[in-house]
Amino acid sequence: MKRSFFAALAAGAFLALPAFQAAAQTDADQLKDLKPVKYVFLFIGDGMSLPQRMMAEEFSRSTTGKGLTINAMPVQGYSKTSSASNFITDSAASGTAIACGEKTNNGRIGMDTEGKKNLESVAEVAKKNGRAVGILTSITINHATPASFYAHNVSRDNYYDIGLDLVKSGFEYFGGGGLQGNRNGDNDIYKIAEKAGYTVAYKDEVPKVDLKKADKLFVRGHNGQLPYAIDKPADEWGLAEYTQQCIDFLMLKNKPFFVMVEGGNIDHHGHSNDAGSSLRETMEMDRAVSVIMDFAKKHPNDTLLVVTGDHETGGLTLGFANTQYESSIYLLGNQKCSSDEFKNKVNQLADKILGPRRMGPPAGRNNDNQNNQASAEEKTIKFDDIKPLITENFGLIFDNQGGSNENNGAVQANLRSADRNARRKLNLVLTKSEQDRIEEAFNRQFPNGKRAGFGGGDAVANTVVAIFDNKSSVGWTSGAHTALPVDTSSYGVNANVFGGMYENSDIAKRLKAIISVPVK
Ligand SMILES: [Zn+2]
Repeated sequence: MKRSFFAALAAGAFLALPAFQAAAQTDADQLKDLKPVKYVFLFIGDGMSLPQRMMAEEFSRSTTGKGLTINAMPVQGYSKTSSASNFITDSAASGTAIACGEKTNNGRIGMDTEGKKNLESVAEVAKKNGRAVGILTSITINHATPASFYAHNVSRDNYYDIGLDLVKSGFEYFGGGGLQGNRNGDNDIYKIAEKAGYTVAYKDEVPKVDLKKADKLFVRGHNGQLPYAIDKPADEWGLAEYTQQCIDFLMLKNKPFFVMVEGGNIDHHGHSNDAGSSLRETMEMDRAVSVIMDFAKKHPNDTLLVVTGDHETGGLTLGFANTQYESSIYLLGNQKCSSDEFKNKVNQLADKILGPRRMGPPAGRNNDNQNNQASAEEKTIKFDDIKPLITENFGLIFDNQGGSNENNGAVQANLRSADRNARRKLNLVLTKSEQDRIEEAFNRQFPNGKRAGFGGGDAVANTVVAIFDNKSSVGWTSGAHTALPVDTSSYGVNANVFGGMYENSDIAKRLKAIISVPVK
């Protein structure tokens, strides 16, 4: 009995083998017929999976009539994102897999699971093969994803050492956000970079850099990351402008190149469950991809463009229990600023009403009775005070706002109206229970009209954004990453090898093979 069980098991395993070999064979065949390609671009949307892409697509279609460039690319594949240590990866392990072609543990940058062996990235292979290299991101340049292309460290948190690896890489262009975890004096990595031959430019200097005079460029747009796409002033440089600068610079080198561009803040807004900011970040990366599509049209026989994500963040779903089959993603267009910026606005309003914040616990917190009497004359913030701020930044409408029936009347009129915009506005009217939830959050953040201190946190902003997203038919299930596979899209020379479903580490394997084909 036992024997036959094992025999069956062995037979099963044996039967499974040819299929596996066949798949591996196809892969080898594909990689055998690779064509030389001069210009190779890899885009990584941090925290961007299918829901993020479809949310931005639907928003873009319903507001501008046009979908995303990345969703219209001719070859679409899927990559699985799990790391060596976790079914749910972090950005270090997924960055390393996409950059180096090997699965490692969460937290590692360009190193194996043991943290003993350095893994070679596609950018390093590119440099070895005589290519110029550019690395860009909208977040800090020594953060996990970009770091995976030039650094080797047991931990993604060793920002300073990762920054030193950046200089050592000798890659021609670094752009977008600046360094985090830098040090002063002689240990300042920007100074070390200058000594190593980099032209370092900061913020306003960036657009004025004389590309012809620079050997290598390190353009740190801001000290930390670029402004969020939703908060960015229109005239300020975004990922697309840096991408254009990078290719203008690398073209002057007269050699083939490899460029990695990260849309880093899709992940951030996924962690904070902020759909309106997330989709604008995806659209901002799509704008940078369009720069490369224009470039590819000028160099059709010499360009490969691959767009992927490193994992999904937030457990985003495009549908919500209360909204059922009604999709209202266009409502996210009413959001005027990121949830981070809205937190600032709430606190600034409180400062205006209550006076500036002092360090330490709020006065009288330990003696409520006495304080209530003593503070009868003191200033307090009321729920009504913040309602206009919520309406202004999210378009959410409070019934009976300001104590009049004015809005109520408007709501009734809109109900009867056949006008689409009026009905759309109606969707933004807060229900009684939604208003109660926001008021409850307000009371947590400002008990008795005073600041709660740290304990109340940013309850108002978090609750408003959660309600706003749900009303827009969007749901979130997590404040962390999830294990969804991501789309990998490609265009141009050898794009066909990125079709199908495969591991994220296969992206690096394929890119390394492509980059290793000599270009005349
Ligand atoms: Zn993340």
